Amino acid sequence: MSLLCAEKYSDIIKPKVRNILKSRGYAVVSRLLNSIYPSTCPLCNNRSDSHEHSPICTICWLGIKHYSGPSCRICAVPLVSEHAVSCKECFTDAPLFSKVLNYGLYSDALSEAINLMKFSGLRRLANPLAKLLLNIEMPECDGIIPVPLSKNALRERGFNQSLLMAKVISKNLRIPLYMDLLLKIKDTLPQVGLNAKERKKNLRGAFKARRKINSLRLLLLDDVMTTGATARECSKTLIKAGAKEVIVITLARAGMI
Ligand SMILES: [Zn+2]
Ligand SMILES: [Zn+2]
Repeated sequence: MSLLCAEKYSDIIKPKVRNILKSRGYAVVSRLLNSIYPSTCPLCNNRSDSHEHSPICTICWLGIKHYSGPSCRICAVPLVSEHAVSCKECFTDAPLFSKVLNYGLYSDALSEAINLMKFSGLRRLANPLAKLLLNIEMPECDGIIPVPLSKNALRERGFNQSLLMAKVISKNLRIPLYMDLLLKIKDTLPQVGLNAKERKKNLRGAFKARRKINSLRLLLLDDVMTTGATARECSKTLIKAGAKEVIVITLARAGMI
């Protein structure tokens, strides 16, 4: 459409109609996207009804709950007893991060959404997933760092899901995003199938800080935390480089797989 035509077109639309279109714009775009990308919810097999967290339907999405049961006050691993304050692992070998702020348990719709984002390339899910993290009360900090992927892993997946989520947090909380401060310099074996000791060994020396960090209090974002080996190794690297404190934020806490 030429500029002249566009101007004429705009003149034809009455202000009232323009306002209706403006107010209903979001709903129209939403319906349009849903008709272009019809899908079935992988959890309940009903039709997905919102492109925002498609293919997971609204009812299943609203089933993603914040976990507030007993957990380790350091690494947030769920604990059976309400009276225990920390897990055995943190008690015997305290990590260098000060605490983990976790949203939910790695199960049901939350694990489905994370896996769809990471392994089916649905990067658009990073936005609604990151918004779940905004429900957690965040401490004052100097910046946010996503857990990095190695060059090869990044090439294979095409994106770093933790970086996509960190961008949303950075924008909403107005805190600096340090996207290239921490690098993963080693290709490591997939952590799944390794025991806790093997996971630590697998990640040893895998990360590198690109420069000295001047006493910053940092948030480290990871999507899923299982044994905490990745968060421990990243925190060690950041503290060694000069960070004052590392607080981990994670979407889902899993037990050992
Ligand atoms: Zn559903
Ligand atoms: Zn713990």
